[in-house]
Amino acid sequence: MLYPEEFDVIVVGGGHAGTEAALASARMGAKTLLLTHNIETLGQMSCNPSIGGIGKGHLVKEVDALGGAMGIATDEAGIQFRILNSSKGPAVRATRAQADRILYKAAIRRRLENQPNLMLFQQAVDDLMVEGDRVVGAVTQVGIAFRARTVVLTAGTFLDGRIHVGLDNYQAGRAGDPPAVSLSARLKELKLPQGRLKTGTPPRLDGRSIDFSKCTEQPGDGMPGGGSPVMPVFSFMGNAAMHPQQMPCWITHTNARTHDIIRSGFDRSPMFTGKIEGVGPRYCPSVEDKINRFADKDSHQIFLEPEGLTTHEYYPNGISTSLPFDIQYALVRSMPGLENAHILRPGYAIEYDYFDPRGLKSSFETRAIQGLFFAGQINGTTGYEEAAAQGLFAGINAALQCRGEEAWMPRRDEAYLGVLVDDLITKGVTEPYRMFTSRAEFRLQLREDNADMRLTEVGRKLGLVDDARWDAFSRKRDAVSRETERLKATWVNPRNLPASESERVLGKAIEHEYNLGDLLRRPNVSYEALLSLDGGKYQPEQPLSADAVEQVEIAAKYAGYIDRQHEEVQRAAHYESLRLPEELDYAQVTALSIEVRQKLARQRPETLGQASRISGVTPAAISLLLIHLRKGG
Ligand code: FAD
Repeated sequence: MLYPEEFDVIVVGGGHAGTEAALASARMGAKTLLLTHNIETLGQMSCNPSIGGIGKGHLVKEVDALGGAMGIATDEAGIQFRILNSSKGPAVRATRAQADRILYKAAIRRRLENQPNLMLFQQAVDDLMVEGDRVVGAVTQVGIAFRARTVVLTAGTFLDGRIHVGLDNYQAGRAGDPPAVSLSARLKELKLPQGRLKTGTPPRLDGRSIDFSKCTEQPGDGMPGGGSPVMPVFSFMGNAAMHPQQMPCWITHTNARTHDIIRSGFDRSPMFTGKIEGVGPRYCPSVEDKINRFADKDSHQIFLEPEGLTTHEYYPNGISTSLPFDIQYALVRSMPGLENAHILRPGYAIEYDYFDPRGLKSSFETRAIQGLFFAGQINGTTGYEEAAAQGLFAGINAALQCRGEEAWMPRRDEAYLGVLVDDLITKGVTEPYRMFTSRAEFRLQLREDNADMRLTEVGRKLGLVDDARWDAFSRKRDAVSRETERLKATWVNPRNLPASESERVLGKAIEHEYNLGDLLRRPNVSYEALLSLDGGKYQPEQPLSADAVEQVEIAAKYAGYIDRQHEEVQRAAHYESLRLPEELDYAQVTALSIEVRQKLARQRPETLGQASRISGVTPAAISLLLIHLRKGG
């Protein structure tokens, strides 16, 4: 049957990429349909029940600044929050939350069900409708054909997914969910560049069978005994009162016996016996991989993370494994506190198809098929946050294409999202890609705390940001700039300032007149202390929110570094965004080596900046290309 209505955007898949894609395109006014296997699994966390962390938290804040759902859903579902790297510089500070999976799914689903311009439909998609080189819709398992101007595919780990537990394996999208086999076959027919990757998950434990008295308690921030008294919040529109009851995590560890048990299963490991061909995430290795690679370490920390407030289930973070079940059973029970632990779900590895992201344009539209966009794990990434950011991005660009407008792509100095997209389309992946702060060369200006300052304005222009967020953002932005100006214009004179006050707040008496902005640049002077100077004489008329104070302080303290980074960005900007002609025949650029010419011809970068990041394209090659372009070649 041909469905009687036509859509602007069809999103296939209701995971973290698909839900953000559907919400974004609908927010922008595109008539959107989200087609997914099962409405009950919308926003499901396939693996660990946590959101954020270093690099990943930055992405969540960016998604949030653009009006996305992940941050605010985490505020509604988070049962433990922490600021990681809190003692380090603001660029690498990151928020991480433990989420109640059921509350998280409910928070996402509520947003999807209440989003104007968005319809949901439960069915597996088995086929894509393609006319010439343009996608025109999708066909479900029972033959319902939906027509659309664009399709965003976010199939996650489901394409030809195969689960491995020891030497046993079976087809699945993840445990308990069907694989997408027909769709995988159809995509192979379309000859898109494709490969296999793998990822894994640990066995889950029943908390009633864990002896927590043998484990170390790890409370979150804002909890008694936590690292900080301040309760973190994810969304720029969130607050701590939204958080449900908070719970601690617990720590146990592996030991020599655990490692012996794991080694005894190597001959039945699908990884070591060649049953699994896909490459796994290097930074999130299975426990067998850790024991094999770091043979000299005799213990690894294992975090026991609660999966929610209404379940006894625990996620033992650090023992992801695809070893046979008898080995999983013994290895779990070899650890302190887990001697009698009952496994609720076995650990497993999953292998799945991904598509080489170098086959995508910088909008995430596939180069081969117009109107077809890919986002999330299908692009070779791993992680909910990476998926959400890509989904939002592809949803935006699908909606823009429907409006007949140019694609949007943030630059590398504007957003981690820009780094993520640029890395994927220029470098491709050799293993599941995850975000780190070290991937961003301009990380001093890409902080969690200023994600809204970087992106909410562009989000508003794109139609992603509603009035409530815009008003809150505008108030904060204006308060920060007013206060920054006031500090610069307010002078403190040694003649009027008692020396005792100066010593108390500034550490020593000031020798000449300073403005408050300059005094705030001193490393040991906080905004709060500055305002207490001389009996609070320098208070602003209206006190600032904590968020605004943070911006004022960081801008003052890191002004030198930030300005230098800004200059670097300006210097590189011209070449970075210099567009390479679509018809450029690289074979004719004879100054370049044959290898570089072939690479550029294959990947067809859109800008000189993108070309410079393709592996093997050296700065010298970029100079030669520039000379060729200047000659009008
Ligand atoms: P998914 O969350 O996989 O969502 C895909 C969605 O598409 C699902 O709703 C599915 O039902 C739907 N779908 C698929 N095909 C079709 C179709 N043909 N028709 C209709 N609907 C379809 N990440 C980490 O960061 N660390 C880890 O340790 C980690 N371990 C993992 C272990 C396992 C076993 C799994 C399965 C995943 C793991 N991940 C891990 C990855 C994390 O789950 C993903 O990165 C993230 O969920 C990807 O989001 P996504 O939206 O791209 O895809």
